[in-house]
Amino acid sequence: MDFKQYIRVIPDYPQPGIRFKDITTLLKEGAVYQAAIEELAAFAKQLDVDLIAGPEARGFVVGAPLAYALGVGFVPIRKSGKLPYESIKAEYDLEYGKDALAVHVDAVQPGQRVLIADDLLATGGTISSSINLINQLGGQVVGAAFFIELTYLEGRKKLGEIPTTTLVQY
Ligand code: IMP
Repeated sequence: MDFKQYIRVIPDYPQPGIRFKDITTLLKEGAVYQAAIEELAAFAKQLDVDLIAGPEARGFVVGAPLAYALGVGFVPIRKSGKLPYESIKAEYDLEYGKDALAVHVDAVQPGQRVLIADDLLATGGTISSSINLINQLGGQVVGAAFFIELTYLEGRKKLGEIPTTTLVQY
């Protein structure tokens, strides 16, 4: 399926010079959203994953249905200060800004095979921070899956040897 036609590009949002990729136009088309999740699920099935982890907030929109499709658990990676139980955190650089992500200390058991899902891979800062958190808990990041990749920002370099799939590239 040609997913790109369902993604809306918004110039100069949230800052001048940024061309924001808006996935809400894809999400509201049920068959397209389902096809996108199924394509990522086909990739994830080869990796024998125990858990899907997704960073707030659009990582939930990709990661939770992916976990459901695979019949595995979902781990929310949240902005620092949002989680109710004991957590660890890792700082990261955004394409525009800086932030910290956090996860519960008991979210992943040592040795569990984790796939990280998000809507978009840009510089790779968010995914690096997410990998850092999973590794700190003793989990093994065995894959990464995104709807969109901004190839010119070379985020894949931060993923090294981790098998990665993206549905749409700019
Ligand atoms: P990175 O950390 O630079 O790879 O940026 C990826 C993160 O920023 C993801 O969590 C995205 O949700 C968000 N992001 C960056 N640019 C865009 C965009 O154009 N559309 C939607 N999300 C974006």
